[in-house]
Amino acid sequence: MSEKQKLTYEKKTVYEKAGAEVVAKAYEYAKDYVKFLDAAKTEREAVTEGVKLAEAAGYRPYSFGMSMEVGDKFYFNNRGKNIYLFRIGTEDINNGIRITAAHIDSPRLDLKQVPIYEDGGMCYLKTHYYGGIRKYQWLAMPLALHGVVVKQSGEVVNVVIGENETDPVMYITDLLPHLAAGENEKTISKAFQAEKMNIVVGSQPRDGEEKDAVKAGVLQYLNETYGITEEDFLSAELSIVPAAKARDVGFDRSMICGYGHDDRVCAYPSITAMIDADEQTHTTMCILVDKEETGSDGVTGMQSSLITDIITEIAKALGGNEAAVRANSKCLSSDVTATYDPNFSDVYEYRNSSLIGCGVSMCKFTGSRGKGGTSDASAELVAWVRRCLNEAGVVWQTCELGKVDVGGGGTVAKYMANHNIDTIDIGVGVLSMHAPYELISKVDLYEAYRAFKAFYNFE
Ligand code: MN
Ligand code: MN
Repeated sequence: MSEKQKLTYEKKTVYEKAGAEVVAKAYEYAKDYVKFLDAAKTEREAVTEGVKLAEAAGYRPYSFGMSMEVGDKFYFNNRGKNIYLFRIGTEDINNGIRITAAHIDSPRLDLKQVPIYEDGGMCYLKTHYYGGIRKYQWLAMPLALHGVVVKQSGEVVNVVIGENETDPVMYITDLLPHLAAGENEKTISKAFQAEKMNIVVGSQPRDGEEKDAVKAGVLQYLNETYGITEEDFLSAELSIVPAAKARDVGFDRSMICGYGHDDRVCAYPSITAMIDADEQTHTTMCILVDKEETGSDGVTGMQSSLITDIITEIAKALGGNEAAVRANSKCLSSDVTATYDPNFSDVYEYRNSSLIGCGVSMCKFTGSRGKGGTSDASAELVAWVRRCLNEAGVVWQTCELGKVDVGGGGTVAKYMANHNIDTIDIGVGVLSMHAPYELISKVDLYEAYRAFKAFYNFE
């Protein structure tokens, strides 16, 4: 190494820095991730998969007030949409908990409460989009319906249509170019409107009906198949998501395109690292949370008091002081960031962008227009994480999400930090973020796993 090299910081790829053995492991790890991604397209499905992983690793369901001792492994299933895993370490609980927090909700189209109508000989479902989407990306492609209908009795009917090869899929029409001259003159936000994102679900009239015969046919099908009526949609949570499965991308198979990398590409490495971490002395916790895409509000979001309730319970059960536990805890807010995209280079600042293949990406601060809304991790915390990752040989980089004043974004980091828990964002870079199919690098995914495992095991 030359004198200049010793003094200079330079980003390198996982391929250059970590070598072939790590790359091979990354490509193996990605196979299980793809299975998780296909099985968990909604937060409810992600919790179901999370419970499976937790139980297979010996985690037991936790309820408030239970006693705890060193070595205990618990999971808390919050209303089927949010899950906490925690494991009691040998270290004094007052020395804090090592926490990762990732979200398992993704942008999509939710059905309205009164969704079904007929027009132009077709039956439709009306939608209300969830999270930040570019609406035109969701048109003219196969879509699937996922979710639950909860009948008045409390009986839960699970619905998944469009995932098996033989299933029908859902569809939103788009305008043909032959008639689009007028639309082409409009701005994107005027041309693509939420109230036009209506899902086609039928065109065959039911025999003997005069009015709304196609809708009658759809209602008959729903009743025969699921035992539900139109009124049951009032107490349903049904979402439209892309129907296709995640796939390898590139001749070298180095990338994966799939629905909902944001933020399952961090949720999966968080939970698997939590389960696999075996040298840990601190108590560890993995949170997979809902509602990040709409502001983290509500009982299953990161702003719920559940986080402090659980920490208080742990502190109490182990004879600690809950304020001390929080003050000495550390949290990795594991969420995605925007990978530098050469097709849109004008919105990125290259030196401070997440570069594909250069490992897991750390954001000291997020926010927009002058760091607005960021919790901004301290230099002390960054130094600690730097030591942790470098000693474990993890390939990592720092980044901001785009150019200053171009945009920005937030994560759950500030909600954790507001509880007096030192928190920093670190996650996987994504291309085409919030599109129906997003793109990630397999080695970046694996470095996230290695980073979270190092964090759980460190000092
Ligand atoms: Mn996210
Ligand atoms: Mn997002």
